[in-house]
Amino acid sequence: MPLKTYWLEHAWLGTHVEPGVALEVSEDGRIAGLATGVHAPPRAAEALRGLTLPGLANAHSHAFHRALRSLVQVGSGTFWTWREFMYQVAQNLTPDTYFALARAVYAEMALAGITNVGEFHYLHHAPGGTPYADPNAMGEALIEAAAAAGIRITLLDTAYLSAGFGQEPSAHQRRFSDGTADAWAERVSALRPREHALIGAAVHSVRAVPVGQLATVARWADEQQAPLHVHLSEQTAENEACQAAHGCTPTELLAEHGVLGARTTGVHNTHLTDLDIGLLGGTGTGTCMCPTTERDLADGIGPARRLQQAGSPLSLGSDSHAVIDLLEEARAMELNERLSSRTRGHWTANALLTAATADGHAALGLPDAGRLERGALADFTTIALDSVRTAGPLPRLGAETAVFAASAADVRHTVVGGRHLVRDGVHTLVPDVPAALAESIAAVRG
Ligand SMILES: [Zn+2]
Repeated sequence: MPLKTYWLEHAWLGTHVEPGVALEVSEDGRIAGLATGVHAPPRAAEALRGLTLPGLANAHSHAFHRALRSLVQVGSGTFWTWREFMYQVAQNLTPDTYFALARAVYAEMALAGITNVGEFHYLHHAPGGTPYADPNAMGEALIEAAAAAGIRITLLDTAYLSAGFGQEPSAHQRRFSDGTADAWAERVSALRPREHALIGAAVHSVRAVPVGQLATVARWADEQQAPLHVHLSEQTAENEACQAAHGCTPTELLAEHGVLGARTTGVHNTHLTDLDIGLLGGTGTGTCMCPTTERDLADGIGPARRLQQAGSPLSLGSDSHAVIDLLEEARAMELNERLSSRTRGHWTANALLTAATADGHAALGLPDAGRLERGALADFTTIALDSVRTAGPLPRLGAETAVFAASAADVRHTVVGGRHLVRDGVHTLVPDVPAALAESIAAVRG
């Protein structure tokens, strides 16, 4: 007997939109059955009107950056001046304040149809670098925050050991550092996965992990068969510093030290050579693009289309949370490429939704999520097709409507593990998400 049946008025099945789908959920929160051609809700089924997509995967997040929204839009500057604001907020975070902030941010994600977040987490210790009584108190706060907001998390615990090539961490960065990659590995090994949480690894960047210690992080991820993420060539200054220190690009350095591979995802992958693209594609290393952050921070437009053609799967993240809207991230991929190439049609809506769903979850170590098929995790989200933004197009164009016209405001339902988490636009665990955001941000703004 299925635990529950949902009736989907329209469902995106990876290649097309199917009208009238009955989806059965098993006791263990997976899709037990999927019947098409069901043109009215069966008795006892819960009807989800609109277009149901697999749950969206937010493959790159720093939850605390949400506190910078709007604040960093005043004035001018560069990525590096933005980073100074970010460090000020980071100073005010404790396990308690970070739990409250992340719970609100992850609730905002659930309202945007996100069912799984990759949290690139490097705020490990107390200000000054002293470990908390539980050295993983901050990571645990994030895992608990995801549970409180009802979504899944892959905690990408990040090695961040130096300020730059051959430089000790700055005063602000001391709380990020475990001292050595071996100490990082020892701390991370104490974290345990839960039903809603996986533990993965990250190299903050080639700037932040000394070259002799990159292999230690890669080895830990290999032993655990865990996802491994790395910020890669977001800024040209990083490439120049890497060339000066090691005579090669960041991608070449990572390749040489065993960091690339099918479980690895490079985040941003913006300023690359042809050789870099070949190395990333040839090793099956993923590419996570965060276009709303990349345009916000004036990073540039990465060669995502060429990377994907070379063999690098594409995933998407909201990163600094300038906005939290995976549909906007998907749309921006194609529209950036149109602006830079002055031609249209680089990705189909189906391809962009695959990046936002199946390929995003796979990058976070969940290959059995992000698809509406028997056996997959019962994680999905429903977008209104009758809002002021989405009314008009035929339902069979639902994928195009979702990517090119809808926004996070059109999300009506989010279901995680079969549980109805967002119902008619209301979060069932965090009833007032705006208030939770306002209070938790006020507490850390300083
Ligand atoms: Zn990032």
